[in-house]
Amino acid sequence: MARKLMVVGNWKMNGCRQYVNELTTALSLHCFNSVDVVVCPPACLIQSFGSIDFLLAGQDVSDCNDGAYTGDISAAMLAEIGCEYVLVGHSERREMHGETNQQVAQKVLRAIEQGIKPIVCVGEPLLMKEAKAEQDYIAEQLAPVLSAVNCEQLEQVVFAYEPIWAIGTGKSASPEQAQCIHKFIRDVISRKSESAAEKVRILYGGSVNFDNAQALFAQDDIDGGLVGGASLKSDSFTTICRYANGEH
Ligand code: PEP
Repeated sequence: MARKLMVVGNWKMNGCRQYVNELTTALSLHCFNSVDVVVCPPACLIQSFGSIDFLLAGQDVSDCNDGAYTGDISAAMLAEIGCEYVLVGHSERREMHGETNQQVAQKVLRAIEQGIKPIVCVGEPLLMKEAKAEQDYIAEQLAPVLSAVNCEQLEQVVFAYEPIWAIGTGKSASPEQAQCIHKFIRDVISRKSESAAEKVRILYGGSVNFDNAQALFAQDDIDGGLVGGASLKSDSFTTICRYANGEH
């Protein structure tokens, strides 16, 4: 089954209104029919986007609905300001904010309840890769998410494989390495629902740039990219989106 590719730009704690305008203008010069383009700016910039042909996402969402959680943003709030997606369980949230696999699963549920599609990030640290334990590590990250959702909800989820050793290092996984883990993730999902496994998109993230994007996107189980650093340069991000759109 052909899955529509997706390119997600994660600005992290970067960007400003000027870059909102610059990227919006750069993307508006192209017609992205065969790829879903998604931008995740810092929450305070989300409402600075005017009329756009791409989709917006939050970088994180609370696992609670409302209440005394200073600094957090609920799924309902993200939905109200026009987010269609939200990143959940990015390794920087897991590492720096102590997010557990269980919390990630709760966040997934909060997002889905509000009609927002979660982009669930998983991926191993270097130590696990060196110990050849990456599949076990990723299976553990996936398990609570897969048990929290039903098969219908699972079809709303996007997964992103982001090996931590590849994030922001300039050392991307090779297309073959990434394909092997993407296939593994799809196999794990298929144990819950074969139909969902066929449909869900699994993005690769970790030093994606315009030099390596085409080879990565050509792999059977790689359905696009989660792009950090290269999403902060409008020409690089646009080129990656063009490649995902099938242009050369
Ligand atoms: C990310 O933070 O999700 C990411 C993949 O970053 P980079 O592309 O800079 O490695």
